[in-house]
Amino acid sequence: MKVLMNAGPWLTVPPPGYGGIENVVATLVPALREHGVEVVLASVGSSDLEVDELISVFDDGRFGELQKPYNQVMGLAHAHQARIVAELRGRDDIDLVHDHLEVVGPAVLAAYGGPPVLHTLHWDLRKHPQFYGAFPSSIKVNGVSESQLARAPEALRAASLGAIHLATPLAGRRVEAGRGEHLIVMGRVCGLKGQHVAARVCQKLGLPLVLAGPVSGRDSQAELDAVAQDPDHPLHGHPDVRYHLDQVTPYLDGDLVKWVGAVGGEERDRLYASARAALFPIQWDEPGGTAVVEALALGVPPVGLRRGCLPEIIDHGRTGFLADTEEELAEWLLRIDEIDPEECRAEARRRFSPSVMGERYLELYEQVLRGA
Ligand code: UDP
Repeated sequence: MKVLMNAGPWLTVPPPGYGGIENVVATLVPALREHGVEVVLASVGSSDLEVDELISVFDDGRFGELQKPYNQVMGLAHAHQARIVAELRGRDDIDLVHDHLEVVGPAVLAAYGGPPVLHTLHWDLRKHPQFYGAFPSSIKVNGVSESQLARAPEALRAASLGAIHLATPLAGRRVEAGRGEHLIVMGRVCGLKGQHVAARVCQKLGLPLVLAGPVSGRDSQAELDAVAQDPDHPLHGHPDVRYHLDQVTPYLDGDLVKWVGAVGGEERDRLYASARAALFPIQWDEPGGTAVVEALALGVPPVGLRRGCLPEIIDHGRTGFLADTEEELAEWLLRIDEIDPEECRAEARRRFSPSVMGERYLELYEQVLRGA
């Protein structure tokens, strides 16, 4: 089977540090290739994931341009997608397209009408309601959690073949890092991920907290200050940046809460693996939660609010804790030593390994091909 895997034009695969979809593709592709699937990756030219072929329109990731006006961002996505359509027109050896590009991905592929398409929903489906309300009927989709699909508009649910949870190459791998005292939030710094709640809880309990992740692509306080002081900067007034400055910055004054910017590679793995617990005080219905699955794989018990995909990933009392309120979150944090890290690791190996994800996607590909 030959699959064209569309990772979009925003970041390289694998991503340099933060990266949602690109991480998923980097995890899935090696598992598929182990099953003999040939992969043509549509990404940017500097991606260095091992694949059978790479196609691209841009040399480097365009993540930095996501803050531009909407029509310019769409223009970039359309240019990337047009390259894929041109490729599909010129050859007949692609059996299936596995698409991960929000909005323009399925729309363009459906209009072209080439090989069958499976589109993976990575998103918070409240975005782009018109688009998802009138989803092209020729395209099949899958979600990354049951809760995401349960909240999806009817047209998407009709096209859905089910949910496949996210996976991590850290499942089954041992990262050597001594256990530290700190708790951690690993993720984009924004209102949805709730870093301010984590900071408030840890300050109340007197527990050290590390916040790791970019703020709208910015990695240091100096960069954020520059944005805040420059009214002509494209990010000036951007909600994520304002969120950081208004809600998180006040907690960074003391010694207890630290923001370390985005971390990647082994540095990320060690920082994450040495935490006592991973906090997910999410303020939205988290669709997939790669960082939750990674915490389990590293033997770092996750503690989060009972929303979105978290109840599907965390087995309350066995592999982590789920809380309904901020107060409860604090109570469970004090009982974190009751969770056995080995139980977390075993759960990740059993449910969230790349080979489990690869097998599930192969099943879906076969289902899509049979339907076509
Ligand atoms: N991440 C990272 N460095 C950071 C912050 C996050 O490598 O500084 C990674 C994190 O480990 C996870 C991904 O970025 O693999 C975030 O994916 P998730 O599904 O948790 O959140 P999203 O941002 O996609 O909503």
